[in-house]
Order: sequence, then C-alpha cells, then structure tokens
Amino acid sequence: MGNADPAPGGADTIAALATPPGRGGIGIIRVSGPNAGTVAAALTGRIPPARRAVYSEARDASGRLIDRGLALYFPAPGSYTGEDIFEFHGHGGPAVTGEVLRACLASGARLATAGEFTQRAYLTDKLDLAQAEAVADLIDAQSAEAARLAMRSLTGEFSAAIHDLVSRLTDLRALTEAMLDFPEEDVDALHVDDARTRLADLRLRLAGVQRGSRQGRLLQEGVRVVIAGRPNVGKSSLLNRLAGEDRAIVTPVPGTTRDVLRESIRIEGVPIHVVDTAGLRETTDEVEREGIARAWTAVGDADVLLAVFEEGDAPGAEEEAILRRMPVAARRIRVFNKVDLVADAAARVEQAGVPAVHLSARTGDGIDLLRRAILDAAGAQTGGESMFLARERHLQALGAASTHLGVAEGEGGRWELFAEELRLAQAALASITGEFSADDLLGEIFSRFCIGK
Ligand code: GDP
Repeated sequence: MGNADPAPGGADTIAALATPPGRGGIGIIRVSGPNAGTVAAALTGRIPPARRAVYSEARDASGRLIDRGLALYFPAPGSYTGEDIFEFHGHGGPAVTGEVLRACLASGARLATAGEFTQRAYLTDKLDLAQAEAVADLIDAQSAEAARLAMRSLTGEFSAAIHDLVSRLTDLRALTEAMLDFPEEDVDALHVDDARTRLADLRLRLAGVQRGSRQGRLLQEGVRVVIAGRPNVGKSSLLNRLAGEDRAIVTPVPGTTRDVLRESIRIEGVPIHVVDTAGLRETTDEVEREGIARAWTAVGDADVLLAVFEEGDAPGAEEEAILRRMPVAARRIRVFNKVDLVADAAARVEQAGVPAVHLSARTGDGIDLLRRAILDAAGAQTGGESMFLARERHLQALGAASTHLGVAEGEGGRWELFAEELRLAQAALASITGEFSADDLLGEIFSRFCIGK
C-alpha cells in the first residue's frame, strides 16, 4: 500500500497491559518487537509454538512464580503489528498483571506508548491510516450502529472507496498529462470531452462519499438539541417519551459526571444530546452556575431547537431570549404538547416556515413525527448502507479534494492549472489513508489511543 516506512529496522520491543487496568477475569500482557521471543522465554521458560495457546507458568528473573496462564506467540509477519508478538493471558488483577509486566520489562522490553501497537501495524502496512483510526473508533464506539460502521472502516470499506476515487483521479491525470504534451490548439476535442466527463463523474462520486461520511459523523457525534419552554409544558415528559425503550440501553460513559441540564438519548441509533434550558436561570450556587454556563455554550452550538408549548399557546419572552442566542444555522421545531387536552384540531397554532409537530407526551400520539422531524432537521438518514464513520480529519480532506476538483472544472482549457488542481485533490484524498502523512499527524492520531492497543 506504500505507507511511509517499512518495518522500522532494529525497532525496540514494547510491552503493555492490553486489557483494562483493574480487576478482571483475565489480564493480558502483550509484547511486540524483535525481542518478543526472548521475553517469552525469560517469562515462561520457552518460546511457545506459533499461534497455539499453551498453558504456562510465568516467573520473574529470580525464578519466583508470579502467575499461571496461557502463553501465545505470533511470529512476524503474521501478527497484529507485523512483528513478533508474545502474549500472556493471566489473572486480571492490578498486582499480578503489574508483576508480569515488570518481568517483561526486565527481560528486554520497554513500556509501550498509547497506540504504539497499532502505529506499528500501520508502519508495517498491516493497516492503512483510516483503518488504524477505525480501531480506536471501534473501541470508543458508544452504540451498536457506531461499532458496525467502525468495523466496516476497519475491514477497509472506507479506504476502498477512497482508493477508487484516487485511481479514477490517477487515470484522469494521465489523460491530462498527455494533453499537456501538445500545443493548446492541437489538443484533441475528444480528449477534452473525455476529461470533462471524467471530472464530472469524479465530482459526483466524491460528493457521494462526502454525504456518507457526514452521515457517519453524525451517528458518532450526535445531534445537539436544545429544548426550551415554560415550566410544566411537558419537557421532561417529552424527553422520556423520545428516549422510549432505548433509554434502558444507553449507558453513561464511566467517569463522566451526569450533568443535570443534559441528557443523551438515541433516536434510531443517532445520539441526541438534549440540553434542557429550564435550568437556565439566575443562581448563586457556584457549581450550578458552572453547569448553566456550559448549558448556554451548548445552546450556542445547537443543531436543533425544540420550542415546546402547550397546544394553543404562543412563545413568551423567555423562549424569545433563548431563540436569540441560538446559532442562525440551527433548525427550529415548534412542538405543541398535550394535544390530548384539546379536542378541536382547528385550534392548532401554525406558523409559516417553521415546522410544527402536534403531539401528546402523555399518550405518545405524534411522537414518531417528532423523532422524524429531529432527524430530518439534523440531516440524518439512518440505515444508509453507504455511511462511513468518518472523522473530522477525513471530512476536511474530502472537502479539500472537492474544492480542488471544483477549481479544476473552472480551469477547462488551461490544462496546466487543471493538472495541478487534480494533483492537489489526489494528495488530499491520499492523506486519508495515510499514503503520505507527516509524523506530527501520526503522533497526534496515535497518542489518542489507549495504551496496550
Ligand atoms: P416540564 O416542567 O416542562 O418538564 O413539564 P413536565 O414534563 O414535568 O410535565 C408537567 C405536567 O404536565 C405533568 O403533570 C405531566 O404529567 C403533564 N403532561 C406532560 N405532557 C402531557 C400531555 O401530553 N398531556 C397531558 N394531559 N399532560 C401532560
């Protein structure tokens, strides 16, 4: 695939705990590099046969028994990193895994840095950069849908879509280079037509990948929804209804304290981060004030505003104040709740240009309409097969490629400039899979991994 470097010659040997720190049924120490076999022999008395789990004792340098478990050995290049890998699967306690790791470090390994195993997999061409990022995305996935998409990127579907674009671009560049060899007046009209057709086709395909990537991004990042309305219009009831059965399976990320003003729910797998502005009031409590400041920031970042009223009601000064602080780009949805209390549908308040949903949080009537309206407002289409779990970095690169192709289209006739824009577009696309990536970019990407991956 032509990544930056082949296996770094004479690389050192790294070791880390690959399972989460703390207590667990099993704790895995992973060792990768030229000394992996030496470390295995020092710890368990021998190098285990390739790719076979062997029940072994683990002893420290003084011969003291520290654990018993399974030893595995994956000789290069048939391993995750492409290097020799040794793994010891022992008991998952912090003290015992610490002892095993220390013994590995004493026999020729050093502690791995965050993401270093996966970085080596990238450097030995086991994974391209987009696939390596998918490893971290799979580990970080907060929903089954996000995990499914990360898995698709990991198997190379996203990279394949990028390679397809790059290869079409390469063909077009070859065609253009051929035209550059002729004086302008001699360029064959058929060639020119061909180049234009190919460019148009390329732009269309790129736009498709961009759409799929934005969708995937949405699925990962979620939609920021601000919910506003007077007390008692039914905001909490609405939130509960919206969350529906999904709520039970939404697990808060461990270690994050729950913010009273925020809730995360899912609609058709899309995370919806709801900020309830009911809490946006004056307060002297310092902790509360901090929460409120953050909620206001969230209002400023919102994608969608739900303005909730009781059926037959109209916005008051408080809603107007919140509306003024919303970003212009945010989509507004007016929600008229408690329709079960109003017999006459003709009494419904309608306003041109702003979508309105009439519903009852109590009976559930109209809730599906609101779910749909939120997803539509955020531009989400769930279940699309062409979705990619793209990162911001990928979206930027796709955007840059698209801009260059757009400029190229305007350069029809000035083939040198045309060719240069194509070259720049190709470089932008290639940066996604990491064909030519700067070291600082790599450092930035891999440092966000966990240690041991
Ligand atoms: P919030 O202060 O805006 O969060 O409002 P709540 O969700 O706490 O609801 C206020 C009151 O309205 C509660 O007594 C709810 O049971 C009631 N309520 C909420 N939604 C509906 C609805 O659709 N129909 C009826 N009849 N009552 C509702």
